[in-house]
Amino acid sequence: MSNEMMPFWTGDYYNEGSGRDGIFDKLKEECGVFGVFGHPEAASLSYYGLHALQHRGEESAGLCVTNGTEFNYHRGMGLVKEVFDRDKLSSLQGECSIGHVRYSTSGDSRLTNAQPLIFKYRDGDLAVATNGNIVNAPKIRRELEQSGSIFQTTSDTEVIAHLIARSSKEFVEAAKDALSQLVGGFAFLLMTNDKLLVASDPNGLRPISMARLGDAYLFSSETCAFEVVGAEIIRDIRPGELLVLDAKGLREDRYAEPQRKALCAMEYIYFARPDSDLNGSNLHSARKRMGQMMAQESFVDADVVTGVPDSSISAAIGYAEQTGIPYELGLIKNKYTGRTFIQPSQELRELGVKMKLSAVRRVVEGKRVVMIDDSIVRGTTSRRIVNLLREAGATEVHVRITSPPFKNPCFYGIDTPDRGELIASSRSIEEMRREINADSLEFLSAEGLIQAVGGDNKDDYKGGMCMACFDNDYPTRTDFNGEEKYGCIS
Ligand code: SF4
Repeated sequence: MSNEMMPFWTGDYYNEGSGRDGIFDKLKEECGVFGVFGHPEAASLSYYGLHALQHRGEESAGLCVTNGTEFNYHRGMGLVKEVFDRDKLSSLQGECSIGHVRYSTSGDSRLTNAQPLIFKYRDGDLAVATNGNIVNAPKIRRELEQSGSIFQTTSDTEVIAHLIARSSKEFVEAAKDALSQLVGGFAFLLMTNDKLLVASDPNGLRPISMARLGDAYLFSSETCAFEVVGAEIIRDIRPGELLVLDAKGLREDRYAEPQRKALCAMEYIYFARPDSDLNGSNLHSARKRMGQMMAQESFVDADVVTGVPDSSISAAIGYAEQTGIPYELGLIKNKYTGRTFIQPSQELRELGVKMKLSAVRRVVEGKRVVMIDDSIVRGTTSRRIVNLLREAGATEVHVRITSPPFKNPCFYGIDTPDRGELIASSRSIEEMRREINADSLEFLSAEGLIQAVGGDNKDDYKGGMCMACFDNDYPTRTDFNGEEKYGCIS
């Protein structure tokens, strides 16, 4: 189904990512993966799991199931509920499956790149689903092409399939060799007709967790998907770890020594759903603590606290609790403008924000307002939201951002603008304050963020987080003679 043919939006859920677009000046999520091993209803479980991960990718969805001898799969453009129906699901019989929801950079939203990617190689069928980005994929791809490989897609995920296929070793050893050549942030699900492999990059940059449902094992980019299907969370997959599941059960192995633990800080701040856990911490609670830390670091006397919906509401509640200033719904999101709503032209972006967000006049009129948001990327939307509050009668608007200034692009699967477009890369906080028309502007410190996620109690460097987009300290090599790639894995 092409983008043009997609049905118009009929509903709005947090997990369908509405509001996470160009109008809202937010970073784009990467992707979501969901795997099942050893359950007769693998496809149905995956459907519900993928729906819970919908906010991580709205452009395509796919599911591949094996019955032990052959693959059945279905992929399509659109939301999970658009791609699958009862008939399609019932045709996907088997006890092992891998599924995927995908976000891609613009211009590269093609069905051939929808995952799981399916390959036939000398030892049989191989399905691959991943979340993240391989920084050295262009370099590996060029080398493979020079030695005769023909790629079927423009997806970097195909690189691992070629590396496995060219190895003379058996599948698990070949996968280990292939994974060890990759540099970046990634979580992989690799499936054959008799095995499921689960791998995390050596820094654990992208989240992936394991759960049990009866005798079955489940794997997901976020734990909220386990709740939906009633599975019990076991643990996160460790950096450099490779899990092998087959007829002998689960085997814990590794393909690389763990490096500095560096889970993406933006997962804590913004991407993951508030009902998910990361590193054992619930996200709603962690975001509340970010708001509390923000209040301790940058108190301002005001009449009401409000959060930019949806992702900043938890932090706004924390800020209000810490200061005693009442939390109010000063901003309301229109639930019926979604992914397929006609995007306004650049000149009408102001209108676009108003269609998606309204200031509640009776809440903010005549009030000094603290507006909590999770990040500022380009800065364009912050000004519009501040102006919405002023037009509704707010006498002062104080902006508090529950992350440090976002200054550097991401190499690990988050689609970020070039450094020059990131407002914090070239402006002082005072210059940004003037640009967004706020009475005051403050950002949460890196130390405050680490404390809020519980990292100060652990030995991990920087609380076990990657914070490169704030401090330019990338946990991996990022320079491959001009052949490196940043952004999303597409
Ligand atoms: S650079 Fe930023 S967005 Fe990218 S993985 Fe690190 S913390 Fe996350």
